[in-house]
Amino acid sequence: MTAAETTVRDAGQDFIRDIIRADLASGRRKTVVTRFPPEPNGYLHIGHAKSICLNFGVAEEFGGHCNLRYDDTNPTKEDQEYIDAIERDVRWLGFDWGERLYHASDYFEQLYDWAEHLIRAGKAYVDDQTQDELRATRGTLTEAGTESPYRERGVEENLDLFRRMRAGEFPNGARVLRARINMGSGNINLRDPVLYRILHAEHPRTGRTWCIYPSYDFAHGQSDSIEGITHSLCTLEFEDHRPLYDWLLENLPLPSRPHQYEFARLNLTYTVLSKRVLTELVRGGHVSGWDDPRMPTLAGLRRRGVPAAAIRDFVKRIGVAKANSVVDMAMLEFSIREHLNKTAQRRMAVLRPLKIVIENYPEGRSEELEAFNHPEDPAAGTRRIRFGRELFVERDDFMENPPKKFFRLAPGREVRLRYAFFITCREVVKSAAGEVTELRCTYDPATKGGNAPDGRKVQATLHWVAAADAVPAEVRLYYPLFSRPDPNAGDFAADLNPGSREIIAEARVEPALAVDNADDAVQFERQGYFCRDPDSTPNRLVFNRTVGLRDTWAKVSGGGS
Ligand code: ATP
Ligand code: MG
Repeated sequence: MTAAETTVRDAGQDFIRDIIRADLASGRRKTVVTRFPPEPNGYLHIGHAKSICLNFGVAEEFGGHCNLRYDDTNPTKEDQEYIDAIERDVRWLGFDWGERLYHASDYFEQLYDWAEHLIRAGKAYVDDQTQDELRATRGTLTEAGTESPYRERGVEENLDLFRRMRAGEFPNGARVLRARINMGSGNINLRDPVLYRILHAEHPRTGRTWCIYPSYDFAHGQSDSIEGITHSLCTLEFEDHRPLYDWLLENLPLPSRPHQYEFARLNLTYTVLSKRVLTELVRGGHVSGWDDPRMPTLAGLRRRGVPAAAIRDFVKRIGVAKANSVVDMAMLEFSIREHLNKTAQRRMAVLRPLKIVIENYPEGRSEELEAFNHPEDPAAGTRRIRFGRELFVERDDFMENPPKKFFRLAPGREVRLRYAFFITCREVVKSAAGEVTELRCTYDPATKGGNAPDGRKVQATLHWVAAADAVPAEVRLYYPLFSRPDPNAGDFAADLNPGSREIIAEARVEPALAVDNADDAVQFERQGYFCRDPDSTPNRLVFNRTVGLRDTWAKVSGGGS
């Protein structure tokens, strides 16, 4: 066993990890260095989580390290807000880059020198064609491109023009620096790709120092090399860029030789994972912000109450493959539910309250009952809940004329109130408009704790809260942001689900929910998992439903499984 192998800690099994294992075993690599390279032009989404878990995950498993590197080469789209959000979200997801925080912009001077190196070697030239001309001469998948009339410029002229580009002598778009590779290549990325463009813009980190900026392709591989990245993991759309990545490695005097590997990006049903679309959702006011709980951003998922551990578990479950696929949203919810089922304490909350009066319960009296915080985890302890003459139950739990399979409350019917007593509905009180406003019930004092000494059974157990101390709360329920499993990323507005958020203004929750640790996830019995929203104030509680108790996606998508 080699030294490298002994440091391997329960690494998973997928083609990336297999490659790394083989590289270490053969001695081709002594260590594993990866990087997560976001462009700070938006918030991170769950697709990025896959990349983060993979990059930081393999580094940790194989005893290497992972850098956080901002791919900040496009100053017009980048912003400090995004930089802050990215760091917050990567940390929240459970990963730490330590001191290894880098920026492509840290390397601008070095990248510039390497561009001159290519010019001197006759492998790059300044092209004066317009954007439109560049596009028109690129060719197509079946036709070769056309060589630029500037392609044979001499080294001295190219150097002079490139230096003047840097000095700010030319306006945006007047000239570009291109690699001189092959306009006839079958791979469009090798048809003299643009390495530098003129952009008079303020950069968040370098300010006005630069008015030329490297392209993604020119910056990325070279940054990898500078940082000693061994395995540069990116998504499949970069597969066709790899020949260019390698061409640059071969033609520049670089300090190390990274290798690029591509894996399939995460796609999720009912979701669009594209920063462009997410930006438009925010700017267009279709959602309340980047952290709207309906957003697939890490900030949105966090606000919705999704634990970071559930996301890590989900990413592990879906694995890393080389073929694109779409993952069912139900898979993500499965991981969330599984996690919250273990960790969330149980509480009672009535979303749509219907008042009931227990006629044989003495007026002005009340009593405390004991309720489990977690029925499967005795260590979670119990709490006291108050029972009294006036209570609220869920409006949906009553029907005046119940169909055959409705076993809950109905006139004359006896049911159990969780942790309390059996009650029987005696009378239905209605408003002048015919709406049920109140139920008059009786309770059986002998059934305290929820069991009848004579062994008689009831067919339903309802959650409830006491009118005397229940706390009003706003509850927000979420449904898919898009109404189609495969929303169109182009014209996404047409596919938005108009009913993606339901706000219940007047729910009633048990008082423990007003004092509990605000960050803890809770299960509202029979309703799902909830968390307190930061919109809550001392006078008004707001809860988000993270996920319901059962998988409803099979129904939503119209498929049975
Ligand atoms: P988007 O496509 O959402 O606009 P991007 O790829 O432009 O995102 P970057 O900030 O460049 O966003 O991404 C940083 C890293 O995350 C890249 O290595 C990218 O390949 C990876 N990544 C982005 N989206 C996904 C996804 N859906 N699944 C897996 N990895 C992804
Ligand atoms: Mg990108």
